[in-house]
Amino acid sequence: YHAKQKGNHYLFFNDSMNEQAVKRLQIENLMRFGLKEDHFVVYYQPKMDIKSGLLVGMEALVRFITPKKGIISPGVFIPIAEETGQIIDIGEVVLDKACKDVKRWIDQDLFDGRVAVNLSAKQFSLPDLTTRIDIILQKNHLPSYFLELEITEGTVMDDPQEAINVMRSLSARGIHLAIDDFGTGYSSLAYLKQFPLNTLKVDKAFVDDMHNERGRNMVDSIVTIAQNLELHVVAEGVEKADQLAILEELNCQTVQGYYYSKPLSAEEFTEFLKQQKSVKNKQTTPNLKVV
Ligand code: C2E
Ligand code: MG
Ligand code: MG
Ligand code: MG
Repeated sequence: YHAKQKGNHYLFFNDSMNEQAVKRLQIENLMRFGLKEDHFVVYYQPKMDIKSGLLVGMEALVRFITPKKGIISPGVFIPIAEETGQIIDIGEVVLDKACKDVKRWIDQDLFDGRVAVNLSAKQFSLPDLTTRIDIILQKNHLPSYFLELEITEGTVMDDPQEAINVMRSLSARGIHLAIDDFGTGYSSLAYLKQFPLNTLKVDKAFVDDMHNERGRNMVDSIVTIAQNLELHVVAEGVEKADQLAILEELNCQTVQGYYYSKPLSAEEFTEFLKQQKSVKNKQTTPNLKVV
């Protein structure tokens, strides 16, 4: 109500706008404190090969666990962190923790694929982005081969020419690049062809819409675009067996979603990897005996 008492501010501030501003400020302060106190934790969601049902990779997803307000969802704090610039520090914490965890899983012989880390627009436009990534990889003794970065269409279409340069320097290091939430932004197909990409991620909204023919046609079109550009396709937010069946029919190779697993804590993911390893051993042992 403070703003209301000051001159004619009340003309522009209603209660709900004021409430929103207060909430944003609260979250900004919680994030500043959380960065100091290590309240940002990384969860991992498996990416599964449809045909074999085996794990092929995982996505690192940040969780903000505050002692007083409980877990704050990325949908709430990421947009605010983008605006305040705190996403740069949060993103580095996530990358550092993801590298550390994956290095451990590789050393334990539980994993030898890539971890996908989301990269925000603010991070992508940092002039020293590649140096920052190199430093974090080196610190964790993790070769760049094990890293994939997920970026949105908006991030790369803002300044496509510059984006090509940044993506080339990342790609030259062996880092894989994925377009996240593909189809929800506006990508120019002409540019899509020029980007050194590896993967298109089909947004959950399209997967949810596959119960009707037009929806299925949309996913079919996205898979075709990916095939024509020789890109890998990952469908996000797969929750049901019938969605999985349609995606297999449409030649989508990889899926991520609650059907296989929700995002897991590092400890839970370790168990998931151990389970996967025993399934894999059972599937390959008979063949090995023949050889
Ligand atoms: P995203 O990168 O598209 O990540 C996929 C989101 O879909 C995750 O939400 C995941 O938990 C959710 N998801 C996966 N499978 C299913 C499913 O079967 N059903 C449903 N209902 N949801 C599913 P989450 O973890 O809440 O993250 C939301 C968004 O926040 C992410 O979308 C990403 O844009 C952003 N984000 C998360 N972690 C980071 C991060 O470390 N850095 C940055 N810059 N952004 C992040
Ligand atoms: Mg993502
Ligand atoms: Mg996504
Ligand atoms: Mg999404």
